[in-house]
Amino acid sequence: MDKNFKEEFRQIIKFEPPLYKQRHQFVKDLVEKYKPKKVADLGCADCSLLWTLKFCSCIEVLAGLDICANVMKEKMHTLSPLPVDYLQPSERSLTVTLHHGSVAHKDPCMLGFDLVTCIELIEHLEESELKKFPEVVFGFMAPSIVVISTPNSEFNCLLPRVMLYRHPDHKFEWSQAEFQSWALETASCYDYSVEFTGVGHPPTGMEKVGFCTQIGVFFRKHPQTGESVQSEKPMEAVYKTVFKAVYPSLKDEKYLQNAVISEVVFTAQIIKHRLMSKREEYSDDPERKSKFQLSMDCFSDHLGKLVVEKNMEPFVSGNEVYIPLTTIFSFPKVNRLCGTFEKLCKLIAGKVTLSSDGSAVVFNIEHENEEN
Ligand code: SAH
Repeated sequence: MDKNFKEEFRQIIKFEPPLYKQRHQFVKDLVEKYKPKKVADLGCADCSLLWTLKFCSCIEVLAGLDICANVMKEKMHTLSPLPVDYLQPSERSLTVTLHHGSVAHKDPCMLGFDLVTCIELIEHLEESELKKFPEVVFGFMAPSIVVISTPNSEFNCLLPRVMLYRHPDHKFEWSQAEFQSWALETASCYDYSVEFTGVGHPPTGMEKVGFCTQIGVFFRKHPQTGESVQSEKPMEAVYKTVFKAVYPSLKDEKYLQNAVISEVVFTAQIIKHRLMSKREEYSDDPERKSKFQLSMDCFSDHLGKLVVEKNMEPFVSGNEVYIPLTTIFSFPKVNRLCGTFEKLCKLIAGKVTLSSDGSAVVFNIEHENEEN
């Protein structure tokens, strides 16, 4: 390569967005494409990729692993649920766990993942660890997809201030040919296919050097059979769990009940409000008012019978407004939360004031009448 040409690029190469963000975005795009439910990030460092991934709604289990507990602990609080997560629990369940340990060791907590990410990890491994890594990740964990990213040493000549390696802790940096040969051999050994790509485009005219970060995406060729999962011998846990957060979810009956109660009361209030304003409207017109009152009295006479009828209108009886549960259930949000009418009845039983036969929400409007 022309020395002057190289020197010129050394001055100007700056990635926008920064390269680490491009790597994380790459993983996020992959997650959005393949929708894995369980994702493990090996060498998760300060948990920033895990933090990005916790917003992907398909993920229900997120795990991080790092050999350095302190780097994980520094920002692990960012993975905890926020007050808003409790106020508005999500429909999906989400558990985030951080483990302290090495990718050179097998631990049963790493089984059952759909996607395993190893972003800028392998170049930090000692030779002996790198030898064990394929058996742990591809042989033991055996997820459907593995993503491995690592620096492309051919790009280093374009980076300012890089002498030997990009980071003092790097044990090696591979050329494209070196990474691809390792990846192809690993893939063939464990029955995976591999596709090569990367992030951090080289400047125009320098395409030959390849991406700044090279990436291999490995796909398991055959689905894991129940037999191969079960044949795993029971084994001892070697990782130490340093963090675990279970997010509030509507899959948990306790949160579902709270959400249903507030939605039922909110919906009933809206219906009541509409009913009362209609009534007020009629009160300006004595003839319409008396008709309205008649129909209301008629409702109250047949209260017992009417409240069991489906799709019945809400009505006023004395100082009480009756909002039938069937009407409330027909509102989309209540309907979606509960699924069935029986479930709605079960979740609000004893928590919301109901008519004596349990078929309508009752509000006392004595106070409101006084105001009017
Ligand atoms: N994946 C992160 C940063 C990677 S830096 C990101 O995308 O930004 C490499 C990380 O791998 C470091 O945090 C280091 O502590 C960890 N690491 C090094 N050797 C390891 C091993 N044998 N097992 C697990 N983690 C290891």
